[in-house]
This record gives sequence, structure tokens and C-alpha cells, in this order.
Amino acid sequence: MFAFRLCAHEGCNHYASTGSNFCLRHSQDQAALLAQARRQLLGPERLDDFCITSAVFDPMQIPQKKTIAGCNFAWCTFHRVDFSGVHLISSFFDFCMFDQCLFHDIDCRYTVFSGSKLVHCDFTGSFIVHSNFSGIDSLSSTFNSCDLYYSNFSSSFLKDTPFEDCNLKKTNFAFTDQRRVSFKYSNPEEIIRV
Ligand SMILES: [Zn+2]
Repeated sequence: MFAFRLCAHEGCNHYASTGSNFCLRHSQDQAALLAQARRQLLGPERLDDFCITSAVFDPMQIPQKKTIAGCNFAWCTFHRVDFSGVHLISSFFDFCMFDQCLFHDIDCRYTVFSGSKLVHCDFTGSFIVHSNFSGIDSLSSTFNSCDLYYSNFSSSFLKDTPFEDCNLKKTNFAFTDQRRVSFKYSNPEEIIRV
């Protein structure tokens, strides 16, 4: 798991970025931290225990089959980033903005997307279990043909977001606001609604 070191800037409650004593905002060399993060995501090797928050990532394709484990990317913005085929394990993407990102056929376990905004994102064909999407805003995104066993979408706002041909066993949809959400060919009777 990433180091829970706080930023050295007085009064800052954000985690320090990997390789720095400061968070991105308080770093003297933001460009170097951003370049390092981009390099780490684009490299073919497994990425463990990496931390950067509030970074903005422009379009890129993360190598398929890459494993991202124990990492913290909270409060980041991902614009047209392709995560397809990536393995996400115990990582944090909470309060992020995902704009036109692809997540085809990802293998995602114990990973947190809580509070994030997903706009025109596509998770088709993915295995997403024991993961947390509570409090997300999902607009024109799709989770078709996913195994969502024990994942949590509670208190989310879901608009034009289909969950067709999915395994929804023990998937939590309590207190969601749903607009034009389809569960066709799925098993909504297995959903947790309270
Ligand atoms: Zn800071």
C-alpha cells in the first residue's frame, strides 16, 4: 500500500506524492512529479504503492495487462485515458474526474471510485468485484456485460448508464437516483437495495 505520509507543507492534509515530501500542489517541481506519474502509468511493469493526488492526465493508453496495486490517484482528472485490460487491485480513484475513459475488460478488485464523476466512460466486459462506486455521478457511461459481484453503487446518481447482461449478485444500489438505467438480461433481483 502507498505510504500514508502527509505533505510537509504546514497545515496540508493531502498525502505526499511518491518521491517527494510534498503533495503535487505544494511541490516546487510539479512538472517532474507529473512526468514521473505519467512514466509510471505508461511503463509495462507492475505499478505498486504509487501516490499522486490532484494530477491531470491527458489522453494516453495504459499497457494492457498492467497491474496497478495499492496506489492512490484520488482527486485526479483523467481525460480520454484508456485503462482497457488493466488489473486494478486495492487502489484509490476516489473523487476523480473520468472524461471519455475506456475500461474495457478490466480486472478490478477492492478498488475505490467513490465520489468520482464518470462522463462517457465505458466499462464493458469487465470483472469488477468488491469495489466501491458509492456516491459517483455517472453520465452516459456503460457497465454492460460486467461481473459486479459485491460492488457498491449506493447513493450514486446514474443517468443513461446501462447495466445490461451483468452479474448483479450482492451489488449495492441503495439510495441511487436512476434516470434511464437499464438492467436488461441482468439479475436485478439479486441487487441489495437497502
Ligand atoms: Zn500539500
